[in-house]
Amino acid sequence: MLNILCCVKQVPDVNLVKIDPETGSLIRQGVPAILNPLDANALEAAVMTKERYGGKVTCITMGPDMAEEALRECLAAGAEQAVLLSDRAFANADTLATSYVIISAAKELGKFDLIFCGKESLDGATGQMASQLAERFDASLLSGVLTLCEVDESKKLVTVERELENGIEKTEARLPALITVEKTNFHPRIPNLKNWKASRTAEILRFNSKTIPDLDPAQIGDPGSPTKVPRTYPPEVGESGFILQEGSPEKDVDKLFALLEGIV
Ligand SMILES: Cc1cc2nc3c(=O)[nH]c(=O)nc-3n(C[C@H](O)[C@H](O)[C@H](O)COP(=O)(O)OP(=O)(O)OC[C@H]3O[C@@H](n4cnc5c(N)ncnc54)[C@H](O)[C@@H]3O)c2cc1C
Repeated sequence: MLNILCCVKQVPDVNLVKIDPETGSLIRQGVPAILNPLDANALEAAVMTKERYGGKVTCITMGPDMAEEALRECLAAGAEQAVLLSDRAFANADTLATSYVIISAAKELGKFDLIFCGKESLDGATGQMASQLAERFDASLLSGVLTLCEVDESKKLVTVERELENGIEKTEARLPALITVEKTNFHPRIPNLKNWKASRTAEILRFNSKTIPDLDPAQIGDPGSPTKVPRTYPPEVGESGFILQEGSPEKDVDKLFALLEGIV
């Protein structure tokens, strides 16, 4: 029976987020929060693995109270357990502090054979969490997984196909393994009504900075975050380009050279 952890993040729908020109901070008010889309693919991979080999999927998130909704979505889509790590002391956490809080809480939940993460989040989008968590879990890191070929619990091995720039690589790694997936083969399922209803009232396990044992205050939230963001601003939009249409490729090239030489 596999013990599987899936790390998920609730993100603002970035298509609707604007930046306050005065303060340079994101205006999140009134913007709907959604389950990070790539995490839905990771969850699908986790649930498919559980269905094939047996086991249990636990979803975990660090975020505000409202992140509970993202966890309920995960329960509706096939996770058995949901864990919310929420505390004001976790605010302003960068990836280092976030991965520290997640591993500290995960130790309370047991030993995991497989840990799934999204490739990156829609908002922070550093893509750093998977490698940091792999290090903290002492797990093999398998990124960009296209196909989960086999999990051999007795040999403690997992075999996957990964997408590389110039082809596909078949790789075997030891368990525990942390996996990020390509979305191609892991389309999020639409929960059935029964599961969706059950997810609305399911218990969410909660931890805060006081209930995670031995949590070092110096490693969480602002004090534990060496990354500082001095300013956020939209990129400057330059002049729009134009297409040369002089009537023939030769004339286009002549015009291009003239432009480059500053003649025109
Ligand atoms: C300087 C700085 C300040 C920040 N301040 C705040 C803040 O005040 N409040 C706040 O809510 N967030 C804050 N964040 C974001 C928060 O700490 C992020 O969750 C964390 O840093 C992950 O970064 P990312 O979004 O780039 O993850 P990525 O590395 O891009 O995410 C990859 C994957 O890791 C997993 N993952 C990412 N974040 C989480 C999470 N929180 N819980 C579980 N799994 C996760 C998901 O599977 C995700 O797909 C801050 C980030 C930075 C860099």
